[in-house]
Amino acid sequence: LPEGSKQMIEAHELLRKFYHHLLVNTKEGQEALEYLLNRGFTQDSIDTFQIGYSLPSWDFAVKLLEKRGFSLDLISKAGLVIQRENDGTYFDRFRNRIMFPILDHQGNTIAFSGRALGGEEPKYLNSPETQIFNKSKILYNFHLARGVIRKQQQAVLFEGFADVISANRAGVENGVATMGTSLTEEHISLLKRNVQAVTICYDSDRAGIEAAFRASNMLSKAGFAIRVATMPDGMDPDDFIKVHGEEKFRNDIIGSSATLMAFKLIYYRRGKNLQNEGDRLQYIEEVLKEISTLDKAVEKDLYLRQLANEFSLSLDALAQQLNQLVHASG
Ligand code: ATP
Ligand code: MN
Ligand code: MN
Ligand code: MN
Repeated sequence: LPEGSKQMIEAHELLRKFYHHLLVNTKEGQEALEYLLNRGFTQDSIDTFQIGYSLPSWDFAVKLLEKRGFSLDLISKAGLVIQRENDGTYFDRFRNRIMFPILDHQGNTIAFSGRALGGEEPKYLNSPETQIFNKSKILYNFHLARGVIRKQQQAVLFEGFADVISANRAGVENGVATMGTSLTEEHISLLKRNVQAVTICYDSDRAGIEAAFRASNMLSKAGFAIRVATMPDGMDPDDFIKVHGEEKFRNDIIGSSATLMAFKLIYYRRGKNLQNEGDRLQYIEEVLKEISTLDKAVEKDLYLRQLANEFSLSLDALAQQLNQLVHASG
């Protein structure tokens, strides 16, 4: 560990406990607690995920950590406080936010993400990259989920913290999320060391579906068995659970997730009118390209026949075009 890392973690651990205490036990945290309970968070999930609240103060963390003997230089390198340019004094990075501690895979608190209570921007404020926090390596909740993931031989990949937490409450305990960034090769190799099968359950809005498409391609290159779960009406998993309940989420969303090909067919169909010849031809070409990437001859044959049936095309013509694609891509 680079010098100072141990103290940086200690500072995070101390703040995590204070933030949690402020949320759960104090009058100052009452509004934040009500916000969370209104959203459907439970006392249980607030404890499990050690959620907290940072006061609307400029120097709560500065004073607390200084009093406990941490150097201001160290805690500013840890991203907890920021130095003012004009007079060199320090102020708290996180103020008046719901605090989600970010744990490393050993369970040390190494960063925070703070959510605004209302519509303030940014909605989520994350710790910066530091010597103890590298977002492209960390998956939120991996520390708690790892055992379940290995046991079930299945991981679920979400977009947001709230999705992981609500899914956990709904009994889906093998969920992890990236830190508001896209999936990286480092995340993938971390998953690969633990599991072969991943269900992608991103938000079902446009951005989430695009991100799910990209993630599915990366995961499929890495050899994972992939399923993709989508929600109706552009909802995210947390919204869905709030509206339709935990059981429906487990059964109708996670339990009935689509195969990768089924997801891609829906993906390529979006925004097209298949009654229109140009759209139809484009769709057929996109699907053929997808089929050409499949390894198994039986799968190729299956989807080719489906495509031929759906558009009343000759299987020969499709197979011929598929062969051209396979050769073109080498
Ligand atoms: P909520 O349900 O609390 O509104 P969400 O998880 O649905 O949040 P999204 O807008 O779907 O929020 O974003 C997904 C994830 O992206 C968030 O959980 C967070 O990690 C990250 N994120 C969102 N907005 C920001 C932001 N302004 N800055 C940094 N990260 C962000
Ligand atoms: Mn989203
Ligand atoms: Mn969302
Ligand atoms: Mn949400």
